Amino acid sequence: MSTRPAEAVVIAPVADTAPVLAVRDLSVRFRMRGGRHVAAVTGASFDLPAGECLALVGESGCGKSVLASALLGLLPGNAQTAGRALLGDTDLLAADEKTLARTVRGRRIGLVPQSPAAHLTPVRTVGDQLAETLRELTGVRKADLNKAVLAAAERASFPVGHLDRYPHELSGGLAQRAATALALVGDAPLLLADEPTTGLDRDLVHRTVDELRRHVDKGHALLMITHDLAAAERIADRIAVMYAGRIVELADAKSFFGTPGPRHPYARGLLAALPERDFTPIPGMPPELGDLPQGCAFAARCAHAAEACDAQPEFADGIACHYPPDEGASARAPQPLPAPQPFPEEHTGA
Ligand code: SF4
Repeated sequence: MSTRPAEAVVIAPVADTAPVLAVRDLSVRFRMRGGRHVAAVTGASFDLPAGECLALVGESGCGKSVLASALLGLLPGNAQTAGRALLGDTDLLAADEKTLARTVRGRRIGLVPQSPAAHLTPVRTVGDQLAETLRELTGVRKADLNKAVLAAAERASFPVGHLDRYPHELSGGLAQRAATALALVGDAPLLLADEPTTGLDRDLVHRTVDELRRHVDKGHALLMITHDLAAAERIADRIAVMYAGRIVELADAKSFFGTPGPRHPYARGLLAALPERDFTPIPGMPPELGDLPQGCAFAARCAHAAEACDAQPEFADGIACHYPPDEGASARAPQPLPAPQPFPEEHTGA
């Protein structure tokens, strides 16, 4: 499997502040029966500073959620990782489970889950769950606990009159707010939202992303994993487009969704497929992650593919493409990538 050295790709944020999260050349592969490997994520690199939302977008199965699981140390046992993911001075890929459980999950990374109702404990009220999480993460004194529960609910706009309700008594929107309230309890500098709008109607999508945006504006960094481009447009400062396990474009959200628009042919196809745009689907299907081509993984679906695309395009200047459509056919001469790096065994998933 090919991975590039950590110095090869550095995707700088818009804001000129130290990143909360610095991901360098992160790769994840799964060992399968018969000695096969599935390359779920390859060479992902980006920075995420406080007060910024980066939306990681792409079709289902492109590796987005695997990347999120790698950051949380929640990969299955047959996973191997390479690269670095620095949260302050902690490398999330190298940290042991005890460190991740005691000092990272909840405290330094707040998880806004995909299915809030499933994430909440069904037999306990929202108030009880907030109280327990507050005790565990903040060590708040018993005398101050009620006040802290009310403050935690209000921070996520969860109505305090509903704190004595069980999860099954909540609407989808209220369950989402309860899950967000729990994610914020530890005041983690980084929020990770994995498909937070899945299954919600458009009105709830808007309310959910606006809620998350408020927390970004208060100084949290937010990595939102989503296939919902409308939600990404509403909330994100920057967009990272993933295809077949690789980030193929990283752009400022305003120019991505507005003018001049996406640069990578796949990213253009994603936007063109939206009903409110051209409603033209991208032809063909993504390749199997266990059977990726040597060259550009999008070549079989790309109208701009040429012979040079048989070589893997290097990520440079915000895009991984030999021939970005509007930049001239000779804009980028294909460059050979550095030699592959092995996966260190000590980074094997728990
Ligand atoms: S590298 Fe070639 S095949 Fe891949 S997206 Fe660019 S033009 Fe298309």
